[in-house]
Amino acid sequence: MRTLILFLLLLAGIYFARRLLSRTAEGLRVRRAQQAGNAERMVACAHCGVHVPESEAVLVEGVGYCSAEHRRLHRDEPA
Ligand SMILES: [Zn+2]
Repeated sequence: MRTLILFLLLLAGIYFARRLLSRTAEGLRVRRAQQAGNAERMVACAHCGVHVPESEAVLVEGVGYCSAEHRRLHRDEPA
């Protein structure tokens, strides 16, 4: 009888430990996904190589520049 009670307690312990772990892992996963969704994509300037957020970058034909000045300088340069 005592062995049965110990066995059931052990099972309950494993059950709660697993539930706690999966909940923690789930929370971490959700938080990471939210952070990834909020993080803005960075674009490297084709002229100077500086990384700027996509919303601030000057994008021309899929090429990113940090400023209109660098877009002009880069496109005026002979290839
Ligand atoms: Zn630049």
